[in-house]
Amino acid sequence: MQIQKQVTSPNASSQSYQHDFYPDERGRFGSFGGKFVPESLMTILAELEEAYEASRKDEAFQTELREQLHSYVGRPTTLHYVPRFSELVSPGCKVYLKREDLAHTGAHKINNALGQALLARRMGKKRIIAETGAGQHGVATATVCALLGLECIIYMGELDTQRQSLNVFRMKLLGAEVRSVTSGSRTLKDAINEAIRDWVTNVETTFYLFGTAAGPHPYPRIVRDFQSVIGTEAREQILQQEGRYPDLILACVGGGSNAIGIFYPFADVPDIQLIGVEAGGTELTPGNHASTLVAGRPGVLHGTLSYLLQNDDGQILETQSISAGLDYPGVGPEHSYLKETGRASYVSANDATALRGLQALSRSEGIIPALESSHALGYLLEMGEQGKIPDGSLIIVNLSGRGDKDMLTVAKALNVQL
Ligand SMILES: *Cc1c(COP(=O)(O)O)cnc(C)c1O
Repeated sequence: MQIQKQVTSPNASSQSYQHDFYPDERGRFGSFGGKFVPESLMTILAELEEAYEASRKDEAFQTELREQLHSYVGRPTTLHYVPRFSELVSPGCKVYLKREDLAHTGAHKINNALGQALLARRMGKKRIIAETGAGQHGVATATVCALLGLECIIYMGELDTQRQSLNVFRMKLLGAEVRSVTSGSRTLKDAINEAIRDWVTNVETTFYLFGTAAGPHPYPRIVRDFQSVIGTEAREQILQQEGRYPDLILACVGGGSNAIGIFYPFADVPDIQLIGVEAGGTELTPGNHASTLVAGRPGVLHGTLSYLLQNDDGQILETQSISAGLDYPGVGPEHSYLKETGRASYVSANDATALRGLQALSRSEGIIPALESSHALGYLLEMGEQGKIPDGSLIIVNLSGRGDKDMLTVAKALNVQL
């Protein structure tokens, strides 16, 4: 199976951002995206695309999705003004948080997991497989499978099962089977390879519930659409609460699903600045971070053409971050497109900046954010210090998840003995 290959960088100046037409029928966002998969997967992806398109026009499907998002997930999540944190950023600015931490299971991942699980059921597939890194997507998938009575198998790198034993237990409690992957670096990218292998073998019965806005077409599109509920709600809420659009929106970027979920519904409003914050790890040297768009180059990984962390031979580099959920060497192709067209910009925040963001929000507002989301919070604090936040700025940060899962990591990083 072709997993990756090197390509030359697309010509940035040839692309300009277009909102409504992406992805095109080949699954391309500008020159990014597509389906770089073996022949055996092409028909499976075509079947998925057809079923997804049909579900979009199916009123019964859309109604059930809406109702479950409301009564099970707890949507709409609030758009919450944080005055004391705003003060820390810069006097005179106004920061709002989109509270995905309040969604059932404590993060945005459930939005996508629920949508895809309903799609699987509509397609008559009763066996769900998924990959997971830190375990968050595995838990979200196991959760919706329990809700809908679907069989659930989660592929997880052996190293990750050891690092995230609590999430392994959660998934089992929810009725899922967790398969430990011992190939390669025994982490997320190996779990994805193993899940793809299972899918090809069991395609008649099986639906691959992919966790982020990456992978081959139509996944980046499907995940974006299911996560766009975040930005669609936020757009209505900010107009209602402030009577105008925000000047700046920030979100952390791992594979890019929470960020595209809030960016996309605002991207056609020209003057809103969109900033994606990647994990800077300990430092921006190979193997010590996960800042794919900041420090990577285009290439193919897991079926899509996008920015990648790779060495000169095209080998995928190891990643490093205090937040396990941002630890992916690729990124969704729509973000590569937003970067190349200049519609969004991407920056890097290191572990220390994230820790600072987490502590600042906890103390100023009584909200303990996930370490992932804390990258965006910490970066915003730095922008304030550098005088980059004009008076009167209206800002939204996507608070992708709550921090309970990170407490042991944070205590260790702060040298606190529990
Ligand atoms: C998984 C996760 C992320 C990163 O994934 P994206 O697909 O980039 O959103 C961010 N925040 C939280 C809380 C997560 O669990």
